[in-house]
Amino acid sequence: MTRRHPWNVIRGLLVLALLLADLPAWASSLAAWRLTREGALELRTSPNVRPEAFFEDGSRLQGPRVWVDLPGAPSRTRSIRGSGEVREVRIGKPTPTTTRIVVEFRPGTDLDPADLRLVGTSPDRWKLEFKGLKRVVVLGLGEGDLDGTAVVSVPPASFPTASTPLSADGLPVVPRGRFRVVIDPGHGGPDPGAVGIRGLRETDVVLDVSLQVARLLQARGVNVVMTRTSEVDVDLPPRVALANRVGADVFVSVHANALSMARPDVNGIETFYFSSGLSRRLAGSLQGQMLAVSPGSPNRGVKQGRFFVIRRTVMPSALVEMGFVTGALDAPRLADPAHRRRLALALATGILQYLGGR
Ligand SMILES: [Zn+2]
Repeated sequence: MTRRHPWNVIRGLLVLALLLADLPAWASSLAAWRLTREGALELRTSPNVRPEAFFEDGSRLQGPRVWVDLPGAPSRTRSIRGSGEVREVRIGKPTPTTTRIVVEFRPGTDLDPADLRLVGTSPDRWKLEFKGLKRVVVLGLGEGDLDGTAVVSVPPASFPTASTPLSADGLPVVPRGRFRVVIDPGHGGPDPGAVGIRGLRETDVVLDVSLQVARLLQARGVNVVMTRTSEVDVDLPPRVALANRVGADVFVSVHANALSMARPDVNGIETFYFSSGLSRRLAGSLQGQMLAVSPGSPNRGVKQGRFFVIRRTVMPSALVEMGFVTGALDAPRLADPAHRRRLALALATGILQYLGGR
């Protein structure tokens, strides 16, 4: 039998103190959250962080989702079962330094993104009301002490934003009716493009994603022209001629990559531009957004390429390769409608970001 030396206890306390002192550098800035029965999400954060809120509309099978991203990683990811119109609340980690709180509603729940606003009520308190919910949401769902006081106090004057508008699908806002974008789904018709694992065809993937990108951009007031909207084969010169003729502000050609079926180990995302600095910026924006929705997929980079459609178009243009239909990681994702929807959101976000930053 050994007697515990007091030093061990002291040393333990010291280690604990050091750990606690270290905490703010990497811990989540989400201190507490609550879903009220009136239908509001309330958050307490570290002071003066700036949470970002997003909305994604639902489908027949999936309800709408609202999520808020905050700096710092959560101690653990978790799902909490909801009730009423809330199906689930999830605390996730979309990047190693981000906490994401997702409120997922049941299919059929009607939420108007125009009514959704994340409102700062003090330097460390935020509130998002879900207007129009018919039923009581949840009784007492939440984690942490919402009414705790902030460790660091700051004068209210330094509080940066009082209200963050959410756009539909969390997309950046650009002036309506100002921009024209050409979306070019690669291949088509007799030319299926690359064919990969389980017969996954590039043409199907890129047409589906492109049509969704078009809808998202149109909803933002962007004029969209597509080089094809169905399974037809369009030569490369007419694609370019169309873009040049309609005076597009941006041209984006959408593709999926392929290598031999013997190389399922090769996966990843890459974006090509031909020469201009604007094209390069567009490509960078698209690449970053695609990577953000494709965790684990290698970043093959933003590269110069001499593809006909980006070489001969006169406006800023880029060609995206959203993953490998022959890749063990990428192929199942590219076959998944939910991932395609995320890719479409990513591309639309990248395009709007570029247009908004010009
Ligand atoms: Zn292709």
